[in-house]
Amino acid sequence: MDVELVSIGDELLLGFTIDTNAAAFARRAAAEGIRVVRRATVGDGATEIAAAVREALDRTGAVITSGGLGPTADDLTKPSIAALFGRAMRLDEAILASLEARWAARGWPGPLPMTNRNQAMIPDGAMILENHHGSAPGIWLEDERGRWVAMLPGVPREFRGMSEDALLPRLRARGAGGAVIRSHTLRTTGIAESALADALGDLAKDLLGVALAFLPGWEGVDLRCTIRGVPAADADARLGAAAAALRERIGRWVYGEGDADLAAVCLEGLRARGWRVAVAESCTGGGLGARLTAVPGASDVMLGGVIAYDNTVKVSALGVAPGTLAAVGAVSEKVAREMATGARARIGAEVGVSITGIAGPGGGTPEKPVGTVCVAVDVAGVVQSRRTVTIGDRGEIRQRSAQLALALLRQALRDAPIAPAAASP
Ligand code: AMP
Ligand code: MG
Repeated sequence: MDVELVSIGDELLLGFTIDTNAAAFARRAAAEGIRVVRRATVGDGATEIAAAVREALDRTGAVITSGGLGPTADDLTKPSIAALFGRAMRLDEAILASLEARWAARGWPGPLPMTNRNQAMIPDGAMILENHHGSAPGIWLEDERGRWVAMLPGVPREFRGMSEDALLPRLRARGAGGAVIRSHTLRTTGIAESALADALGDLAKDLLGVALAFLPGWEGVDLRCTIRGVPAADADARLGAAAAALRERIGRWVYGEGDADLAAVCLEGLRARGWRVAVAESCTGGGLGARLTAVPGASDVMLGGVIAYDNTVKVSALGVAPGTLAAVGAVSEKVAREMATGARARIGAEVGVSITGIAGPGGGTPEKPVGTVCVAVDVAGVVQSRRTVTIGDRGEIRQRSAQLALALLRQALRDAPIAPAAASP
């Protein structure tokens, strides 16, 4: 099934709002066998809207609009498209009643403003697309030749929610879902893109008929497998086989699938072993703690940490030996190891994780250039550490440093057996 998207709003043309709705729909549609064949963006004027929708109807006969369904005078999507279809607007009593109930339930004073009544006006013969995510209902308008326009609100949360629960089911019922485009992502970290390609060898060129993309970023290198033009059931089976083949070669670097978060993976690994973690951070200034505590349910595993930015704090709060600092400097594996051990012991966790590095832009030397990062993990007294030179600006070096520490933690966890659950007393 082919569709066109028309995004409506002056703010989109002016560049103040980025058209995330069109991107979100296109991504979602591909997986359902719906092809977005053209996208247009127009301002809030009635003639522009009508012209864009008329052209799309003539070309493709299937149009999804986003925006301009609000209650105010600049929201002209409905009347301009109704005019295009030669339909009058009428007040829908059921929608009006639900708007009034919504208004009252929110506890706002007075009756529903007259302006809101616009949202209850719908074109003759239109079908309502129910909005469970906001107030403005969506509209489905179809002509006698079966050409249709689906009008959805512009608020991204409402647009996405209604695409999922009101629009896609209708499109499936109309026969979408033949040949699909689907993707599956494996997330790797701790290995460079080129080394990953070497490790994959021939598999990178011929992955069971599945296209493979290398997507490097500060979290690591994502491997995205994409298959197109096959029925949905085949697509999932073949993506599964491709993922299994990839894992067989480079599984040790894979920490998850889809949008997996390395911090969440580490917390899960700690939880499975009944361990708790404490962090000691210099150059990331709390970035690692933020990553861990951003994960819902972190509190049973994450105890806390120390931001030991200045050397005096590394000594006083973590017990790093002044002699070590004098001998090898703050950015060294030795100091990272003492920081990890200090965090673990002083905070009373089973596992300590530390980061020390040079985020720049100043402070680099030939021996320790900007981007030099040392991370360490202490698991019950067994310490591992790693030194790397990362790339990027200050912000990216700090992000990469936290990811590096998590990668080392994951490696330490992978090497540690999961203890059998303790017998309850
Ligand atoms: P509207 O439905 O046109 O009244 O838009 C409501 C809100 O959603 C405004 O804050 C818009 O900036 C935002 N919005 C509208 N269209 C889009 C779009 N295509 N992508 C992202 N946000 C949008
Ligand atoms: Mg608008």
